Amino acid sequence: MKKIVAYKALPSDVETYLRAHAEVIKVDPNDKPAFVEALKHATGAIGASVKISPDMLEGATNLKALSTISVGFDQFDVADLTRRGIVLTHTPDVLTESTADTVFALILASARRVVELAEWVKAGNWKASIGEANFGVDVQGKTLGIVGLGRIGGAVARRAALGFRMNVLYTNRSANEQAEKEYGAKRVELDELLAQSDFVCLQVPLTPETRGLIGANELRKMKPGAILINASRGPTVDEAALIEALKNGTIRGAGLDVFETEPLPADSPLLAMKNVVALPHIGSATHETRHAMARNAAENLIGALNGTLTQNIVNRDVRAR
Ligand code: NAP
Repeated sequence: MKKIVAYKALPSDVETYLRAHAEVIKVDPNDKPAFVEALKHATGAIGASVKISPDMLEGATNLKALSTISVGFDQFDVADLTRRGIVLTHTPDVLTESTADTVFALILASARRVVELAEWVKAGNWKASIGEANFGVDVQGKTLGIVGLGRIGGAVARRAALGFRMNVLYTNRSANEQAEKEYGAKRVELDELLAQSDFVCLQVPLTPETRGLIGANELRKMKPGAILINASRGPTVDEAALIEALKNGTIRGAGLDVFETEPLPADSPLLAMKNVVALPHIGSATHETRHAMARNAAENLIGALNGTLTQNIVNRDVRAR
């Protein structure tokens, strides 16, 4: 009988599906010794948002597959998993549209100062019609620079070009021909994207190459009126440099779904800044999408354990042991 460790709460129908195929052991990943011990006896594991380092897999000799309920897989050492013969699966596509909605919510909220002004109204400050001091900036017709135009970046580009008539610039290591054809997206060097864009939106995966991609130098290259949007992973931006840039008026503002440390510490200077919209990593967090992700991850895991999975595999070069 297969043994699956579930290190995140799953919807009941998804748990029932897994139980039809395997014994399911629920584990609290905050209890690391118990988690590591459970992995030693498991054939598979499913969960999210927890770093699984190589030392946690020592002795997990039966482990054949790990299934993350996310598209990002920066919590894993993929090369190490491959060496161990462990298949890693993830959940692309099912979360693309709701994450792109979150990105657009950040763009609109930052530009039109939605959160700041809604709080201002609730605090009883609306005594007369507002003046210039409370105006925002337009989104429609502006230039959006997408750093990492893949699945989610493409869905953001579609909203921007077709819905808001924005000009779309992007950087990628390879061209995204569909986005160029359908949304008029133009591939440029990062420096040009930073210099031209009114909104700079990061949607790259976190890798050694993208860690700290936007630092003090890059922020200085942005327009003073520009807004930085990050719904990728916190460490793609040098947060200390961003805080300085926001304080000094190097850029207008930021819309952030992700941070270097999550949950964002209560003493973060970002929390005191009116020109920052901060969300608690809600990119894909709708009832529908989170359910679809859990279902997809469960099916990926069973498929990987049965050797029938053909898609959503991160390390295709793994050799089953
Ligand atoms: P994707 O389809 O793989 O898109 C990533 C894009 O980044 C690709 O176009 C890729 O193009 C580009 N890229 C990769 N490395 C790059 C580099 N070094 N320099 C420049 N561009 C690079 O992935 P996705 O499904 O859109 O997801 C993207 C990321 O969003 C995930 O990895 C995850 O971290 C994040 N995410 C966050 C949330 C949230 O809750 N906030 C939700 C979902 C996803 P090239 O390969 O051609 O360079």
